[in-house]
Amino acid sequence: MLTFTALMACGAVCIEASRRLGMPAGVSRDLLSAWWLPVALLLPPVYALFAPIVLQILLQVRVRATVLYRRVFSSAAIGLAGCTASVAFHWVIPDPWVLTRGTGPPIAYAVAAAVLFSLLNIGLIAIAAHASDPDGSWQEVLWNRESVLLDIVELCLGVTVSIGCGLNLALLVLALPPVVLLQRSLLHAQLQAAARTDSKTGLLNAAAWQREADTEILRARRSGDTLALLIIDIDHFKRVNDAHGHLVGDEVLAGVAAMLRRELRDSDVVGRFGGEEFVVLLPGADVDEARQVAERLRTHIGHMATPVDDVLIRITISVGVALMSVHGDDLIDLLAAADLALYRAKELGRDRVCIPVVQPPQPPSPEDQSV
Ligand code: GH3
Ligand code: MG
Ligand code: MG
Repeated sequence: MLTFTALMACGAVCIEASRRLGMPAGVSRDLLSAWWLPVALLLPPVYALFAPIVLQILLQVRVRATVLYRRVFSSAAIGLAGCTASVAFHWVIPDPWVLTRGTGPPIAYAVAAAVLFSLLNIGLIAIAAHASDPDGSWQEVLWNRESVLLDIVELCLGVTVSIGCGLNLALLVLALPPVVLLQRSLLHAQLQAAARTDSKTGLLNAAAWQREADTEILRARRSGDTLALLIIDIDHFKRVNDAHGHLVGDEVLAGVAAMLRRELRDSDVVGRFGGEEFVVLLPGADVDEARQVAERLRTHIGHMATPVDDVLIRITISVGVALMSVHGDDLIDLLAAADLALYRAKELGRDRVCIPVVQPPQPPSPEDQSV
């Protein structure tokens, strides 16, 4: 009971210490496993079932009052994963306090139990995320490089805290500050990412896109590299909203965003500029490449169909393109040129790509020369 109380107290301190930072909406990550894992490894399995309930109640009351079923599901997922890992570990190592002897096999089994805990927890959360949003990219949320690194950090912390805590409960005092610091920096990074992202599409929002685009343009200007900017506008999008409603319109926007992400390179800067307009910066692209990319996007989005109530919604896009050094040297000029080209594409009948033609400078006429 004392070990359980001490570990829960550490979890509570962690939550309180990062409370003021807030917590991003949706699926977010924390480092509370540093405290659930020692409960699962050192104490009888039943404790692992109850540990998440205590801390999830604290999260709900003190940090973010989210919908209750989510909290219940999170507690159940962590509880079941912890209890299963605990049963498995105790089955192989009946006296878990041998962990403190530092010999190889118990530590190896503890690591294996921690891996089992992570896999079960991720699996259960993935099922819930998929059930609540079947089209959502839950794989991206749960299996990207960052989250795997985080799982490894959680595992290391959990096993290390277990050994320390088994040696002497007072050693938790030494483990607490680094875990609190890690927890705070993890939350900070997640909040920063959320502030840069447009929640409807997952792309950069307008402000973040402009910041990144400015940096890329500065880099291109220094190095003399080519660079292209595209403004993409969905044609007659109002009709989609009028015919099917705004929620369906939102689905179409998310579909277009997903297509843009799929079709563009990681180094391209993609953002939602507002409404049904998207902006793309293509570092290193010349006029031919920019036209090719824009045409590819136009064709793919034109072939895309969003199924809604037995009907397939199809849309087309118009694209305005501007090139660095040809149509402008800074973001404002490039955006203005691409916007003008977009207007031209709309005027010409939509569903097309337009690049403004730049008149080559006229040689001075003989009369001018004689003056
Ligand atoms: P055009 O081909 O000339 O671009 O026609 P359009 O209908 O796409 O353009 P217009 O500017 O007339 O209308 C844009 C529409 O986009 C109107 C607005 O309701 C819709 N819209 C803007 N933001 C959102 C959004 O976040 N969700 C949804 N569903 N619709 C949006
Ligand atoms: Mg528009
Ligand atoms: Mg439009």
